[in-house]
Amino acid sequence: MNNSPIQTPELIHSPKEIRAKVVAAQKSGLTVGFVPTMGALHEGHLSLAGRAAAECDVTVVSIFVNPTQFGPSEDFSKYPRTLDSDIELLSHYHPVWVFAPEAADMYPPGMSTVVSPPRVSSPLEGVSRPTHFAGVATVVLKLLNMVPADIAYFGQKDYQQACVIRQMVIDLDVATRIAVCPIVRDDDGLAMSSRNRYLTPAERTAALSISRSLRVATERLEAGDRDAESIAAGMRAEMHAAGIREIDYAILANPQTLETLQTATDTVVILIAARVGGTRLIDNCVVSLSPTE
Ligand code: AMP
Repeated sequence: MNNSPIQTPELIHSPKEIRAKVVAAQKSGLTVGFVPTMGALHEGHLSLAGRAAAECDVTVVSIFVNPTQFGPSEDFSKYPRTLDSDIELLSHYHPVWVFAPEAADMYPPGMSTVVSPPRVSSPLEGVSRPTHFAGVATVVLKLLNMVPADIAYFGQKDYQQACVIRQMVIDLDVATRIAVCPIVRDDDGLAMSSRNRYLTPAERTAALSISRSLRVATERLEAGDRDAESIAAGMRAEMHAAGIREIDYAILANPQTLETLQTATDTVVILIAARVGGTRLIDNCVVSLSPTE
């Protein structure tokens, strides 16, 4: 990887072409890292590209706003599309190939196969967005076939998505290794998201109660509190006090199965999904406690 000088990434639209380039690179002995995104890139996405560029010889970043992972009342049509500035942001890493397929190439007429996502897709997002993970699993499997990279990089920001993809590649014998990278936050603690640009200043202030709730819950766990239900109630109260009325979930869960815990164990994941104004935000944090605590 070379982070300077700036070099415009190569833009590829055709699935056949990107696959041929990836396979040829690998045949010549190069390793390929892959970062699937929906574009509107921010520092969170760039941290994945930076890690891929550090660990692999070539980085592929896909930009595709996947219609099948949006529900009928969700923000597919207004989801930000900023391909030119995305490409510019990626010019700090190279070599980068930007793969931006057309919807007609991803879903040609007659395409009807859908991946049934693994069990870990059922709770939480699976309840709030019942068709979401079938859409995610299908598009990610297609992308991994088009870009058969050595390593694919995903963010812990979408914790359940990472669980779904890790299990899917095991279950379906996908050769690409999956790496999960830490959440990148703004200075005020808000987890970076392409959807944050929808927030008004007042909504953004309210949204800060999400990461604050995670911090308060973590502190309670670190202080020895193991009452997961009471900690979860505390998170909901913190968000309510900030004006958030619609909380899809705020729970402590088993980090592998995502089953809700009544009593905290050695390692827990704390997961929140809440609607702030018209914007649905998710955040999480993993807390590892030594058994003696
Ligand atoms: P998206 O474009 O929202 O589909 O995200 C593409 C990838 O970037 C996913 O693997 C996300 O988990 C990851 N990602 C999104 N936001 C962040 C963040 N704040 N920190 C780290 N990774 C992120």
